[in-house]
Amino acid sequence: MLVMKFGGSILRSASDYEEIAEYLQEFVNTERAVVVVSAMRGITDQLINLGEYAARGDEFRVKGLLSSIREKHEEVCQQLGLSCKLLNEELERLEKITIGITYIGEITPGLRDLIASIGENLSGGILSELLQKRGIRSRFFTGGEAGIVTDDSYGEAHPLMKATRVYVRSNLLPILEDTVPVVAGFSGLSQEGKVTTLGRGGSDLTAVLLGSSLEVREVWLWSDVDGMLTADPKIVKDARLIKQISYREAIELAHFGAKRMHPRFLEPAIATNTPIRIRNFFNRDCSGTLISSREVIREEGVVKAVGLRKDVAILTVRGAGMVGRPGTAAKLFSILGENRINIMMISQSISESDISVVVERDNAERARGIIEARLLGPIYREVLLDRNCAVLAAIGAGMRGTPGVAARVFDAVSSRGINVKMIAQGSSEVNISFVVDEGDGEEAVRAIHSEFSLGKAD
Ligand code: ASP
Ligand code: MG
Repeated sequence: MLVMKFGGSILRSASDYEEIAEYLQEFVNTERAVVVVSAMRGITDQLINLGEYAARGDEFRVKGLLSSIREKHEEVCQQLGLSCKLLNEELERLEKITIGITYIGEITPGLRDLIASIGENLSGGILSELLQKRGIRSRFFTGGEAGIVTDDSYGEAHPLMKATRVYVRSNLLPILEDTVPVVAGFSGLSQEGKVTTLGRGGSDLTAVLLGSSLEVREVWLWSDVDGMLTADPKIVKDARLIKQISYREAIELAHFGAKRMHPRFLEPAIATNTPIRIRNFFNRDCSGTLISSREVIREEGVVKAVGLRKDVAILTVRGAGMVGRPGTAAKLFSILGENRINIMMISQSISESDISVVVERDNAERARGIIEARLLGPIYREVLLDRNCAVLAAIGAGMRGTPGVAARVFDAVSSRGINVKMIAQGSSEVNISFVVDEGDGEEAVRAIHSEFSLGKAD
């Protein structure tokens, strides 16, 4: 048995649903499948905006968005010749909720999630009815109906694994013999019975949760990319598909890929050792990237991929008074945390007289202002901001215990005349991250890619 998730990038029109249904019709002749769907491309963004317009009481924009969402889905339904019963119910619900919010002029985190979750219900309703029309027994489930239980951190809810496993098994196993369940990705149900969402890109997490709970053979995540690559092909000409990668490496690499991935989508798979495969629905001859517990070490060296993130800045807090004073780093981090500024990378030298953090450039000025206002004084003397930076990461599990990898990475970069501004390596040694001037970022990627012959087949 497999779980297959179809991402928003491949759900654009009636013909996409048709192609998926046709594929599934053939597939289920040979193996059982649980299907997970995302919302149609762009719909989740529109639903999130819809909630915001409603909260501001902007009736004009609310009505405009509602009718464009309705038209888009009705068109697909009609082209596919479906009854659109579920679709109409969901659209009506969406309209009632958002019009209500518009009149009240106030929204809650729970309502935001309720609205955002509807995109997947619309999409799943279409696919499930289409399968039935083709003579396949199918039933639609919301995330909660399938058994996904979460805490109540709306917008980024955490699945409760034990409960989810029990409910998913009892809800889905009995029908799997003769029915193809189509499950809405992205949403779950809190213990109080409220709809929650798992965070952007959360349909991947839904698929992995179901796969791990049902102990399937593999979970396939279908989208429009072949899989994980050794580097961004726009930067490196001979960037190559990675055929096999371990969970830990994939988690590191997911931060850099072209495809938006949920930061914790692999967690449930690690617990049950469930293999995940990233595949391209428009290139089905390609077997994609297999993510499993297996760590393959390449002959050319232990680095497997190199990632680049532009638009970041280094913020450095300096002060001799920080030396040997416990709690200084904690204070800095908690102030940034309270203000919802995400820290991407941290480094402190042994002298403890300065701490540098990497943040997104969009947050950098605000972060500096907050730190200056809250911390400057006799202990923290100075805040420096280096605005134009890029982070690189050389990723590969084999770095652990292999001497000389860091030397090769930095030699390769410096031999191209590139200055390294900041370095961090976690003690797990799956990843060496460093910061360079933004203008040097792409050249540094090419330097590492060629040093470790990443363009050469495994
Ligand atoms: N539709 C949701 C999003 O756009 C979840 C997903 O597609 O994975 O974030
Ligand atoms: Mg998606």
